[in-house]
Amino acid sequence: MRQMIRTYIALAALVIAAPLSAQEQSDAGFSSDAILALKGLQLLDDRVNTIGYRLIAANAAFCEPKIAQTGLMLHDIDQYPDQALARFALGIDGRVAVNAVAPDSPAERAGLLVRDTILAINGQKIEDIALDDPALAKQPPEYRRIAAVNDQLDKALARGDVTLDILRGGEQRQLTVESRPACPSRFQISVSEDRSASANGEIVSISSAMAEYFLDDAEFAAVIAHELAHNLLQHRDRLDAQDVNRGFFGQFGKSAGRIKDTEIEADRLSVWLMANAGYDPDAAVRFWTRYGKEHGKGILSASTHYRWKKRVELFVEEIAKMAAMEPVDGKYPPPLLAGSD
Ligand SMILES: [Zn+2]
Repeated sequence: MRQMIRTYIALAALVIAAPLSAQEQSDAGFSSDAILALKGLQLLDDRVNTIGYRLIAANAAFCEPKIAQTGLMLHDIDQYPDQALARFALGIDGRVAVNAVAPDSPAERAGLLVRDTILAINGQKIEDIALDDPALAKQPPEYRRIAAVNDQLDKALARGDVTLDILRGGEQRQLTVESRPACPSRFQISVSEDRSASANGEIVSISSAMAEYFLDDAEFAAVIAHELAHNLLQHRDRLDAQDVNRGFFGQFGKSAGRIKDTEIEADRLSVWLMANAGYDPDAAVRFWTRYGKEHGKGILSASTHYRWKKRVELFVEEIAKMAAMEPVDGKYPPPLLAGSD
């Protein structure tokens, strides 16, 4: 099974990244491997969207600032080099469509379904959304429209509930999505054979190869919660303000110490975020013990990252703190977050 997943991820990397000519395609149609690779990626997108949304919704009370979050993950046909394959495998009929809907989210309550085509946001047609905004220039061209659409949706939600015109099975409908505040952050799967996870201040990215290492949603939540904690604690801004070198030279001296401090904070906060979202925080212990034993000689032993045994000790310490306190409305106010005091 695991080997099969790895094969699909390698295939997905091809389907997403490679020029058309490099893809194996029969004359008669699409290969089942290519279809399954895209469906597999959509499944991972659904998991990261579901778990991410649950973490940001459950911890909303403790986040400052908050932003309106829908639990909706959209995709654009332009993201896929083989558009005919993407239309066939994922059922994208128009341009921008629903890729995933998180359970118990405003998107789900609005009645949005995977495959729905988004036609307009508060009456503004998707094709009229400008793509020449300088803020979009840093995005690769194939991601500009989805970035602009997400941005448009965020702006509309900041003003209140949003009306979406959608197309489903050839029929046009209007749905209202509630504007509901949650912690800021978006979530995505990046297609890569390297096991990695990152946070850039706004987006949490989990690589497809990393996702393959999780045994269950709680372990997946442990890694998402660690990266989410970096975003919520604005670590990137803080390191930049301290002029910390995050590159190669960041492994030495003062920079290493400051990066390590942010790692410790993210680890400490992660288990509180998990517990509040109903994920067993012990999954962080289980995951990092297994991962650490296998990868202990690699990145985890660099000077910016402390050894996995130390990380596991931190998780155990934080879990003991939660066990010793009475939750308030079923939640444990996390240390470090502004909204907790
Ligand atoms: Zn980290």
